[in-house]
Amino acid sequence: VTPIEDKLKQNLKDIFGFDKFRGEQDKIIHSIVKGDNTFVIMPTGAGKSLCYQLPAITLEGTAVVISPLIALMKNQVDQMKGFGINARFLNSTLNKSEMNKVKKDVLEGECKLLYIAPESLTKEDNLIFLKSAKLSFVAVDEAHCISEWGHDFRPEYRKIRSIIESIDEKLPIIALTATATPKVQLDIKKNLNMDDSKLFKTSFNRANLYYEVRPKKNPKKQLLQFISGLKGKSGIVYCLSRKKVEEIANLLSVNGVKALPYHAGLDPDVRMNNQDAFLNEECDVVVATIAFGMGIDKPDVRFVVHYDAPKSLEGYYQETGRAGRDGLDGTCLMFYAYDDVLKLEKFNKDKTVTERENAKALLMEIVAYSTLGVCRRRQLLSYFGEYMNDDCGFCDNCKKPTKKFQVEEEAVLGMKA
Ligand code: ADP
Ligand code: MG
Repeated sequence: VTPIEDKLKQNLKDIFGFDKFRGEQDKIIHSIVKGDNTFVIMPTGAGKSLCYQLPAITLEGTAVVISPLIALMKNQVDQMKGFGINARFLNSTLNKSEMNKVKKDVLEGECKLLYIAPESLTKEDNLIFLKSAKLSFVAVDEAHCISEWGHDFRPEYRKIRSIIESIDEKLPIIALTATATPKVQLDIKKNLNMDDSKLFKTSFNRANLYYEVRPKKNPKKQLLQFISGLKGKSGIVYCLSRKKVEEIANLLSVNGVKALPYHAGLDPDVRMNNQDAFLNEECDVVVATIAFGMGIDKPDVRFVVHYDAPKSLEGYYQETGRAGRDGLDGTCLMFYAYDDVLKLEKFNKDKTVTERENAKALLMEIVAYSTLGVCRRRQLLSYFGEYMNDDCGFCDNCKKPTKKFQVEEEAVLGMKA
């Protein structure tokens, strides 16, 4: 056992309070400590953050963490500070003097983790600053943002590689994502120029999540009924529009559920406040558009409800993945109506033919998932290229096979036309 391995183990216990590594965390961390480019594909909740946080804390210098969302950065920096670690972020929410303070901390070697938005990374003066800092490695979190095939394309992510090269081409990169489709994987490798990287990929099965679809008939009533059985439990309700988010948050509030809205149309302060209230347990349920959730680390979310149909199975998997991160059971309930799928299709009418066809293919998978009587987990996992020998026994189609509702055949045919 080398001194660095001892130190990693020690820090895992002393700082994070964990007795052992989960899954392949130790192998991943050794790969990055060795200076190898490392590619991590693990489902949401698997514990990807630790794979860069722990080496960042343990190695000399500052690790740069590129992260797509301000909420996500704040969340992690707060968490690190809570552990007594000097972590900072650089993004558009800081004023000039705050930025200078952050840079000073890094240059003096105080800061172990510097979270940076891709937009900030490309700024000339930040580049000059990063060149003069002592850096340990670069982590690209939510690396699927680099790919147009992913569900969250961020053009600025495409510039990451050339920027790293202009800082120090030998800096090891660790790319992390929960998106496992082959196209996205290839795109990440190509764009970060890491053909030589070591790949760590684990199963996407979240055995503790119960999947269920209910036909959407009287959704307000159905939602209230569902939540009444989960009083005081943490949950997320996803809606398609901001208006619906407000409406449902209000509905829950007047019915005695501690609920708050979250969507991109809210004032940033309010948004941050509502997120904090959720994380601090002042509120039980967040009603949100999909603007909420990426990278949010709340271990005890017990349910995720899709009040409206999601746009893709990939997105659905990510969003439901926020439940049960602590390993205890979580329920993932979708209210499905074909009308919602048609609404989603209308959003695409101004897109190019190819984009429209892609979007439609993704929606078709939602229709199939929601209407077929097949084990839901089998369907979700096959989307990620994983095949199950047996049905899961822990979804509505496995538990209550008689309950499955009729395939809306015309609807399905309509989509194919
Ligand atoms: P991901 O980024 O893969 O979605 P996170 O990094 O947010 O997942 O981690 C999910 C949860 O797992 C967090 O609550 C984290 O504290 C916990 N976790 C990570 N590593 C371990 C470990 N070795 N032992 C116990 N819990 C862990
Ligand atoms: Mg993460």
